[in-house]
Amino acid sequence: MNNPVSAFLEREHGVYIGGEWVSGRDTFETLNPATGEVLARVTQADEGLVDQAVAAARAGQAVWGATPPAARARVLNKLADLISSNRDELALLETLDNGKPLRESKGGDVPLAAEHFRYYAGWATKAGGQTNPVSAPGMLNYTLREPVGVVAAIVPWNFPLLIATWKLAPALAMGNAVILKPAEQTPLTALRLAELAREAGLPEGVVNVITGDGRTGAALVAHRGIDKVSFTGSTEVGKKIVVGATGNLKRVSLELGGKSANIVFADANLKRAVRGAVMGLYYNQGQICIAGSRILVERPVYEQFTELLAGAARGITLGDGREDTTQMGPLVSAEQRDRVHGYVTQGQAAGAQLIAGGALHGERGFFYQPTVLTSSDGQNIAAREEIFGPVGVVIPFDSEEEAVALANDSEYGLAGGVWTEHLGRAHRVAAGIRTGTVWVNTYNAFDAASPFGGYKQSGWGREMGEQALDLYTEIKSVWINTK
Ligand code: NAD
Repeated sequence: MNNPVSAFLEREHGVYIGGEWVSGRDTFETLNPATGEVLARVTQADEGLVDQAVAAARAGQAVWGATPPAARARVLNKLADLISSNRDELALLETLDNGKPLRESKGGDVPLAAEHFRYYAGWATKAGGQTNPVSAPGMLNYTLREPVGVVAAIVPWNFPLLIATWKLAPALAMGNAVILKPAEQTPLTALRLAELAREAGLPEGVVNVITGDGRTGAALVAHRGIDKVSFTGSTEVGKKIVVGATGNLKRVSLELGGKSANIVFADANLKRAVRGAVMGLYYNQGQICIAGSRILVERPVYEQFTELLAGAARGITLGDGREDTTQMGPLVSAEQRDRVHGYVTQGQAAGAQLIAGGALHGERGFFYQPTVLTSSDGQNIAAREEIFGPVGVVIPFDSEEEAVALANDSEYGLAGGVWTEHLGRAHRVAAGIRTGTVWVNTYNAFDAASPFGGYKQSGWGREMGEQALDLYTEIKSVWINTK
């Protein structure tokens, strides 16, 4: 193994508070999902450590909030450079902890994280207030954009570094301090990022990383010294966060679950649509909130499409993320693999047909086969609930109206795809689907400049793009009597 990574894994992992490593009383193990072996032991932060982190963040925010925007931008650009220059190490850590193919962590997660810091470094010197055309005689009115204060960033295990960055970069650019809590399954890259933040020159207390499970997250959410919670995770926990944050009515933004429809019309370029469906279903082992896990296919091409998709699923090579030949890695944990298999079994019991996959894979590790089910309608459990694994359900439809109605028949509203060569239909369907993102003749496209978030029970607020600045700022209206 790469030496910096083995040295990092062997260390005692405290939590990072106020620029120091602090040990806690309790620890837990994080596993390599490709082998089931223990990778490292990390700290289970208790309420005492949460209190310490909040105190350090409050002090750090006072310094950072007063730092000139150009200086903040320089530090964030330096952090981006450090992420880039440590790409191999960060990517390997991510692959070991999460299971995803190294090709993806190296080519996707880590460079995208660096780009995200660069993008928001740019906003530090550009996001301001405005003057407003008020009618009162002699009055000047303008707005100031001010930091919210101390932000708790609570993130899931599927893109540990990247999703942390979606929160850290805009929050830091706008002058906030952050307490980052990675998921208990994948705490390692967040801990390494804390060191890079220090090296980049972030003052102590501005970035704090505390590890632990949902209890640590809940303690952060309830803490009155925190001004805002930025959460990505399940809809179930998102609802608990809304309730937990009421004590001091802290600001809350939520990126939650999804059950996205990927709609294939008979006039689509079928080869491209199949490739898009495979990408929508199996990227990151299907553990992705935007997974196109409901594939709606117009009846004339339904059988042909389903066969092509099943063939593509069977052709995917599973393996340890470190192997060059691996196209899909293991699921993050045995629990997640068993949950996914449970949905496939329940879906079949409720009438869905299994046409590819549907079983565990390999002697060790938490692998699950790329799976395709078909269902005559959208009511099957596998077509309604978020599975968060490599499982898609293909459902036929007969008209554009039916396709849009099926797509919208979900409590979620995160994303969706449309495959058609008909320009007007592409725009009509894009407008008709009630989701935060729609892709036409593509899937999984992302950019730091494009807002991302959910309608309905997929969340509150938009990350990325200019819109994310609003999540990390308060707007102050200032009135001046000029007479
Ligand atoms: P999860 O909700 O179980 O956990 C997410 C984080 O919340 C973890 O850090 C966890 O420790 C913490 N947590 C758990 N209970 C908590 C509580 N009571 N209070 C505060 N924090 C608590 O989600 P997961 O299993 O890690 O991730 C999978 C889910 O995340 C899926 O539903 C997926 O759709 C969603 N997700 C959404 C997006 C998005 O941008 N919309 C992106 C990725 C993942």
